[in-house]
Amino acid sequence: MEITKTVDLKMYINGEWKNATSGDSRPVINPADGKVIGYVAEGSVNDMKEAIEAARKAFDSGIWSELSAAERANYLFKIADKLEEYQEELTRLEISDNGKPFREADADVMDAAACFRYYAGLITKPDGETYHVPADMQAMVIKEPVGVCGLIVPWNYPLLMGVWKLAPALAAGNTVVFKPSEVTPITSAKLVEIFEEVGLPKGVCNLVFGAGAVVGNELVENPLIDKISFTGGTVTGKNIMRKAADSVKKVSLELGGKSPNIIFADADFETAVDYALFGIFAGSGQICAAGSRILVEESIYDRFVERFVERAQKIKVGPGHDPQSEMGPLVSSEHLEKVLSYIEVGKQEGARLACGGNRITANGLDQGYFVEPTVFVDVTSSMKIVQEEIFGPVVVIQKFKDEQEAIQLANDSVYGLAGSVFTIDGAKALRVIKKLRAGITWINTYHFTFNEAPWGGYKQSGIGRGLGTYGLEEYQEVKQININLSVEPIGWFEN
Ligand code: NDP
Repeated sequence: MEITKTVDLKMYINGEWKNATSGDSRPVINPADGKVIGYVAEGSVNDMKEAIEAARKAFDSGIWSELSAAERANYLFKIADKLEEYQEELTRLEISDNGKPFREADADVMDAAACFRYYAGLITKPDGETYHVPADMQAMVIKEPVGVCGLIVPWNYPLLMGVWKLAPALAAGNTVVFKPSEVTPITSAKLVEIFEEVGLPKGVCNLVFGAGAVVGNELVENPLIDKISFTGGTVTGKNIMRKAADSVKKVSLELGGKSPNIIFADADFETAVDYALFGIFAGSGQICAAGSRILVEESIYDRFVERFVERAQKIKVGPGHDPQSEMGPLVSSEHLEKVLSYIEVGKQEGARLACGGNRITANGLDQGYFVEPTVFVDVTSSMKIVQEEIFGPVVVIQKFKDEQEAIQLANDSVYGLAGSVFTIDGAKALRVIKKLRAGITWINTYHFTFNEAPWGGYKQSGIGRGLGTYGLEEYQEVKQININLSVEPIGWFEN
């Protein structure tokens, strides 16, 4: 199942596969064993400029935006079919590149195909509005593509995060410059190969690899770009927003989180424990919406911690290609260091480690970036491990007395991406959810998301929404058209 020979990844600019003009490339590492599995072109500012100019030219030519919605949808349906045709290969590539276990990578590919189908369907449905204005006029609104969109994608869902942006952007008639994370470029290249295979016109999707601070920065600053859609860290997101302001680009940001998972004493106990484990340890905790703060009602706190720790310690950690593995490695050695340093910070802050806390090196995992499922208790709200996004398999479990304190603790964060409530009291569940300052919420479940529903956060978790009709609107401009039905002079001026 693993990559047996290294892959060589080129950029795709104006319909041509190209090495970086400098000839530079950088290694791509399998996080499960630290081995080099490929080399990716290291694009420069000039490479990025070339891609932006190609996307601009393609947009301005109307080659894509002036197709009928049904014609564009047809391409998107074909892309979805191809994603399914290459499901096994894409899954294998994603596992080797990102480290995620088979079931997660496999689901990502299926979700990616479904996302293309959703937007292919949506774009052919009625949209726009007409208004009742004085009878000699007709006013209406139509939606148009924003233009050239720069799509910047992180490493935690390399394929799916790309698709969440590409599918609506292309459906709406935009052309794009797509910049994946340097850490996980492989499935992005495969996806663009699929675009080529289905005959997407030249220049409509351009793929540029290279450092975020170099090619990503050019994408954000270049005045030929109309919109930036970014998913990634909050620090980078803030930086992008500042730089995009110079040319007043439209910006969508999907940033970090420190999402609360509130568990009341009347919840179905085993269901709550089970979803709390899923909430934080799926994706090795490298999910923006991870339930990284578990808040438990006082009367069941000790029992909950005991059961949660017992089960966390049994999670089978290993390489994604091993069908037994339930949790994979962290994505890179740099990220491993970051997560381990947060664990040290937690200990120094006086939190108590209830389990985990170490890198795993036993059973042949010593070359990979594996970390034990880690649980901190006896924490206070002011601690860094309670406030900052760790983005690893590290959770804090806090205690609350009543509904009011649960809400207060849950909202005590600069983030507002997601949150969940576990209780059998339906009225209480909805009361608490309505008080949560978060964009993605669940009752008696966690993590489930649907192409039909908007994804995004309150507060410093971002701006705008992905997915659903809201996700399409992020890639559309709104134009009002006022038509005079009585064509004669207005006579405003006498002479
Ligand atoms: P970044 O936010 O830095 O990277 C995300 C994407 O942005 C990558 O494609 C990156 O390119 C690009 N990028 C980086 N700098 C710039 C820039 N100046 N201009 C334009 N694009 C840029 O994530 P990190 O990998 O550094 O992770 C840092 C933290 O962010 C994580 O620890 C985690 O807390 C959070 N994070 C959140 C994610 C989410 O889904 N909300 C996803 C990933 C990380 P390149 O890879 O080449 O640097």
